[in-house]
Amino acid sequence: MRIPLMAANWKMHKTIPAIISFLDSFIPLMRELGSDREVVIAPPFIGLETVCRALRGRKGMGVAAQNMHFEEQGAFTGEISPLMLSDLGVGHVILGHSERRHVFGETDGFIAKKVVSALEHDLKPILCIGEKLEQREAGETNAVLEAQLRKGLSGVTAEQAQDVVIAYEPVWAIGTGKTATPEQAQEAHIFARKWMAEHFNSGIADQIRILYGGSVKPANAAELMALPDVDGALVGGAALDAESFAEIALCPLTPRA
Ligand code: PEP
Repeated sequence: MRIPLMAANWKMHKTIPAIISFLDSFIPLMRELGSDREVVIAPPFIGLETVCRALRGRKGMGVAAQNMHFEEQGAFTGEISPLMLSDLGVGHVILGHSERRHVFGETDGFIAKKVVSALEHDLKPILCIGEKLEQREAGETNAVLEAQLRKGLSGVTAEQAQDVVIAYEPVWAIGTGKTATPEQAQEAHIFARKWMAEHFNSGIADQIRILYGGSVKPANAAELMALPDVDGALVGGAALDAESFAEIALCPLTPRA
């Protein structure tokens, strides 16, 4: 049984006072959080400690980093390490987000090293994959997803794969207000799950959580979450406001296999 994961990605937004104000509104709204889902918040690095402290001991709630380096320490100015994240109490790390790939030039090979390093440090990677609009229009969606999965998970064993979360985020849907149709989302999620079955085994494929990301909002969350292979959401813009993210995080869910 896959427990859906509802994740907020704040990107480069919010100062500490803004984070505290969000948490003051959001935490009371999570009184209704049941054991049928998990909620994770990925603040910018300066907010990790504040969010970790506020959510510590709260069942079903956790913290994610938005990125990390694969080394534990060293001469890597501006970077943050898996050791630093796990020491803070961070549980997940978003890796290979399309902004890291397409704005900062991260390659599949670089992302693959981070995925392995995260797993070795008890951090669950949320590996983002997704095609650009021109790739979808050229009929290359599955080839793009296949290459990102194959390369991004190249160092991961079947045993480790259980702790990997995949986020299917079509690049053309991120921050644009355009959401994938339920058919497009389900098709991509099935493709990724079948790949898991072929590359690892059917047990892993059944177990692995595949989130959808790309303009998820309170108005479309339940429809997307009702899809049989969508196991949660990675939410950017609509997760900046406490009421809006609470509505998404608590949206009706259909139990899945
Ligand atoms: C994201 O940041 O991963 C994302 C999906 O953003 P948005 O929800 O704003 O499209």
